[in-house]
Amino acid sequence: MPITSAAALDSGLTGTEQAVLRALSDGRQRTVAELCAELSAARSSVVHALNSLRTAGVVVEHPSGRSARGRPARGWSVAASPGLLAVVLAAAHGFLAGVVRPDGEVLAAVHGAADFTAPAAALELLGRAVAEAGVTHRQVELAVLGLPGPSMFARTPGLDSFGGSHLRRFRDWDGRPAADVVSEYLDRPVFCENDANLAALGEAVYGDVAGLHTVLHISLTHGTGAGLVIGGKLHRGGSRLAGEVGHLHVDDGGQLCECGARGCFWQTTSIPALLNELATAHGKTFTVSDLDAAAALGELEIVRALRGFGRSLGRRVADFVVFLDPQAIVVDCTLGAASDVIADGIREAVDQYAPPMMAASVKISSGSLGASAHLKGAAALVRTEHLLDVSRLGLPAPA
Ligand SMILES: [Zn+2]
Repeated sequence: MPITSAAALDSGLTGTEQAVLRALSDGRQRTVAELCAELSAARSSVVHALNSLRTAGVVVEHPSGRSARGRPARGWSVAASPGLLAVVLAAAHGFLAGVVRPDGEVLAAVHGAADFTAPAAALELLGRAVAEAGVTHRQVELAVLGLPGPSMFARTPGLDSFGGSHLRRFRDWDGRPAADVVSEYLDRPVFCENDANLAALGEAVYGDVAGLHTVLHISLTHGTGAGLVIGGKLHRGGSRLAGEVGHLHVDDGGQLCECGARGCFWQTTSIPALLNELATAHGKTFTVSDLDAAAALGELEIVRALRGFGRSLGRRVADFVVFLDPQAIVVDCTLGAASDVIADGIREAVDQYAPPMMAASVKISSGSLGASAHLKGAAALVRTEHLLDVSRLGLPAPA
């Protein structure tokens, strides 16, 4: 078994060897020139690292037919090809199941508005995704489960209920931990991550803002959440809840929140709250699709409401800008055209409340990956956290 574990990376390999291994961990072949460009490293150090890793049996060289500057260029890859990833997302708006290559290519994505407490419905959706991808269960090497609440990498007893009883409905499927149900079905290891974090990582690594160092992604489809990606990796924080912008305090006399605090921001500023307000004002039911359609048509009243929602959000985000000085703020794009209007509102508030130099340097836009952000984020998670190595070598999961 190749020695590519996170533990080995920390203990035995040089910095360049670690970087080379991380770059190759998606299973794709790369030439020395491509690695030098990707890592901004000198050719001699990349070649030295590759030779050392080849001697250790970790990477292999391929007699590639590709060429650079007229000379044949050889490709390099990890010795053990990574398998496919199965991804299951369980959230308030329903299920998403998919199959993804380690390099982020989505092979299948199946949506379902299923009852997320019923394992059978989730597993049926996962089975359909595997079938649509044209693969077998055996080709799936591990699964990533996206759930609301703190990420749950280490399967420490008691963590399943961490985050409050309001999260139990997502995490307990008929009284069993969701991860256990999926793991048993696939007979593969399962790693859990916060659903908003997966979308954030997907956009930060594969979206329009790829390559920017500090990216804040705001999730809106249910509640108001955020994920923070710094240097291509998730920043989770001590309690693994970093970026929960929805729980910023705004009202001493507000309602008691399900998080345990009182007067949290999301209670009055969230898409579900906005839909309720619109329903009351217009005397009819509104859905997320209605917001998308109204924004696309430029319906003035709805656009104004969305822009105002964006400004309220932006008022809080402006404080994030001061603390983090991010290069990009990405708005959940699953709201379609409505996301663009909300991003405009955030822009206005950040321009008004953050110092001009900081406001001017931050790119604010809606995401570019749509519903596949979560799936691609799972692929990025596997790479950045060395989950294939953790899974293959039976190492303790990252904290
Ligand atoms: Zn709260």
